[in-house]
Amino acid sequence: MSEQDYDYRSMWEGLDMDVEAHDGLLEAVGQMYSSMYLTQENRPASTAYLDGVATNLHSGRIRELVDPQGDGSPRPKKVIGSFCLYVPEEIITAAGAVEVGLCAGADWAPAEAEKHVPRNTCPLIKGFMGFKLGRVCPYIESADLVVGENTCDGKKKAYEQFGKLKNTFVIDVPHVRTDETRQMWRNELRRLAARIEQETGQKITAESLRAAIKLANDKRRALQRLSATRAADPTPISGLDSLLTVQAAFMDDSARLTGAINEMAAECEGRVKDGEGVAPKGAKRILYTGTPMAVPNWKLFNMIEKAGAVVVGEEYCTGSRYYKDLVPETGATVDEMLDDIADRYLNIQCAIFTPNHGREEDVVRMAKELHADGIIDCALQFCTIYEQESFGMEEAAEKAGIPFMHITTDYSGQDEGQLKTRVEAFIEML
Ligand code: SF4
Ligand code: SF4
Repeated sequence: MSEQDYDYRSMWEGLDMDVEAHDGLLEAVGQMYSSMYLTQENRPASTAYLDGVATNLHSGRIRELVDPQGDGSPRPKKVIGSFCLYVPEEIITAAGAVEVGLCAGADWAPAEAEKHVPRNTCPLIKGFMGFKLGRVCPYIESADLVVGENTCDGKKKAYEQFGKLKNTFVIDVPHVRTDETRQMWRNELRRLAARIEQETGQKITAESLRAAIKLANDKRRALQRLSATRAADPTPISGLDSLLTVQAAFMDDSARLTGAINEMAAECEGRVKDGEGVAPKGAKRILYTGTPMAVPNWKLFNMIEKAGAVVVGEEYCTGSRYYKDLVPETGATVDEMLDDIADRYLNIQCAIFTPNHGREEDVVRMAKELHADGIIDCALQFCTIYEQESFGMEEAAEKAGIPFMHITTDYSGQDEGQLKTRVEAFIEML
């Protein structure tokens, strides 16, 4: 059945979504996308792929997951949802399932969400609770299983409530790095592998795990290649487009997206040679660090770039933390590869770890490599761990002589005026 003839409304109804409320969400996100993305000038032509990703996010991509034949026959693969970078896509792919990111980047049904989580919970958690309670996220609704993780206190406790609404399996993530916790984490990923195998009825083999490692590494290599082009002045691609590229990595088909990112990287390499940029040469360059930004949370990058600066790099989970490290491709057995995966993921510099100086080192290193003029560090409201790390981050930036600004924000537009003034003043001062 062709894309045009396909009845997406029936598909959403079949997923038990609130289709009318969902119409409202799609309209709001569509308007936001047009005003933030489609108004950008001098975008690389290959970013047209991202416009397609945005258009198909709740329609074509969901159909690929739940009804690729278009005839209602059983879905070919189980869909596993996750909220965090610590849930390894390699394990899920190797067991024959597809992993999708479920983090919500917008407020939805906050009053409903507050019946399940405290009012002073970060917007990301409140967002995914609201999306579930409001039945407006086709990724949550199409997930056969959700994998939660004991990371920050907010998520850890919210999964107790979320688990009453959805089939959920929670893994335990250590908060310190020692030989003992490394072993505990390696064991925990074996528990995850067994649960996913049980869900799919498919055993993870050395062959399937090797192929899954390579698939994820190829995507990460492509993202590294694209990110390297942003060291140039003028920088060839915007922070907004780079952000969406990584956001897409949690939802789109891996092999197809890798091809598209490599095309973007090739075009950007050409633009660097030709001195062609998305912003004029000499535009102020910002390195972002902080809490992750889930779709459609584009507000801060839009603000920075509409103020005439350009985001040249991002140290966070929808940025470098996702792609900077690869899993070794040399493991011979399932056990060896699972240990390699565990070790690679334990190295993610999330603020749940103490101490977490590696994050400060990464930020300073990236700021230097990408020739950033300033660092903007941002925490979502009520996110204690990233708020707390902002102090150490400021000291590290000061020591390196890099101007620094910390922001606390949420998903509402209420602080937009005040935030805009602060961002513009910071850029002016650089
Ligand atoms: S910031 Fe930490 S808890 Fe949040 S997605 Fe990243 S790794 Fe997971
Ligand atoms: S933003 Fe902070 S509080 Fe919210 S889920 Fe992420 S780590 Fe937890």
